[in-house]
Amino acid sequence: MTPSPIRVAIVGAGPSGFFAADALLKAREDVRVDMFDRLPTPYGLVRYGVAPDHAKIKAVTKTFERTSGDSRVRFFGNVDVGKDVTIEELQARSHAVILSVGASSDRSLGVPGEDLAGSLSATEFVAWYNGHPEYVDLNPDLSGRHAVVVGVGNVAVDVARILSKSVDELRSTDAADHALDALAQSNVETVTILGRRGPAQAKWTTKELRELAELENADLIVDPAELELDPASEAVVADSPAAQRDMEILRAAAAQPPQGKPRRLTIRFFASPVALEGEEGHVRRMMVGKNRLEDRDGYLAAVATGEEETIPADLVLRSVGYRGVPLAGVPFDERKGVIPTDGDRVLDEHGEPIPGLYACGWISRGPSGVIGTNKPDAVQTVETLLAEPSLPEPDDASDEAIPALLASRGVRFVGVEGWMALDAAEMAAGEASGRPRVKVTSVEAMLEKAGSAGT
Ligand code: NAP
Repeated sequence: MTPSPIRVAIVGAGPSGFFAADALLKAREDVRVDMFDRLPTPYGLVRYGVAPDHAKIKAVTKTFERTSGDSRVRFFGNVDVGKDVTIEELQARSHAVILSVGASSDRSLGVPGEDLAGSLSATEFVAWYNGHPEYVDLNPDLSGRHAVVVGVGNVAVDVARILSKSVDELRSTDAADHALDALAQSNVETVTILGRRGPAQAKWTTKELRELAELENADLIVDPAELELDPASEAVVADSPAAQRDMEILRAAAAQPPQGKPRRLTIRFFASPVALEGEEGHVRRMMVGKNRLEDRDGYLAAVATGEEETIPADLVLRSVGYRGVPLAGVPFDERKGVIPTDGDRVLDEHGEPIPGLYACGWISRGPSGVIGTNKPDAVQTVETLLAEPSLPEPDDASDEAIPALLASRGVRFVGVEGWMALDAAEMAAGEASGRPRVKVTSVEAMLEKAGSAGT
């Protein structure tokens, strides 16, 4: 039997953390949920990852607001678990800890010149235009004419779309003010998306691809020769209605002559970056290698043909996947960039479950799927937790234990009321200019708007 009431700490207040909290509240009346986040603000990638011009996707925060409004839930924002408090300290004050910290880093390309100025990860660029306080000073150089985005997933599509739109199309969004100012000065004229495999292997979703074909400010350019499919890719498309729709969009774009819009967005396939070349430390060109597909046990791999060309590249955004970062005191699989689990329970170095420690979302599963994909994942983790025959007995699971620990460390945390005050201030600032909100982008200003600590 699990204890009553049961106190669960959730580390990471992004979508997975909120879905886990909601599942706990629904499953048991006698539950207390403490949600922790490194930043003073909740919602993780919904706030700092979802593109500003995708307001509808952010509507999920309405559900999260209901969860945080439940009297059984507390929010401890601005608490860096692993630094301000340890996992062991949370375990000593909770019956169980769920880790839902997401994947905040990125994968690199591993090609020469990747570290030149002007070559960034899409992860950083996204965090910058979304007002993440740690990326306010990124200052991506938009003074050149040619941007290249590597990867054909939805993040690549997001950053390519933001670079292709006019700033006026973004002014009514919650993009950070510093990003709007910089994008207003952008000299970017061409944006090239590079897929290392073919159109049938692209990872984007149809809705996102279609938006690229409907941009007001940019012509979508696709080379019809790159849409010719080998038999294995034909079979992939024949089996997938989504891939068929994608091919229709791409073929229509390939057949359409450019309309003379201000920017050109080109999608290339079978093309990998081989090296970045610069002038005075700044990237200016990309050497691109042509690929063909090779069937490796059913996986169609990109294999270099040896044919290479050089394209102009003043800004390079690698968008080849997010990657989890280790959390102090918790096992980490460096190769996969995730916390090792059996699906729900965190595993120690012998592959044995660590009692009372769970993980869900990207840090457990890897960075895949849309926001909603994290719901069944979190629900399943909560079901596993609540079905345990027993949970470790904490030293002190009282309501006071965690606030007392934070107070003893001098950690100033933002509670639900503090977040609501900050949220209201941002929305009020937005209302004046017809935007959903004007984001506060420094931790100091967030703490000030949130007022004094409270839950
Ligand atoms: P992703 O979907 O995994 O796409 C990564 C892309 O990078 C793939 O095209 C992959 O190609 C390519 N890639 C990997 N290594 C490469 C290399 N060394 N050289 C060249 N290309 C390489 O990842 P993501 O775009 O970061 O998105 C993460 C998740 O968030 C996805 O599930 C995505 O759908 C989701 N998301 C959703 C939305 C939305 O719903 N609007 C928005 C943003 C993100 P291969 O296939 O060849 O490996």
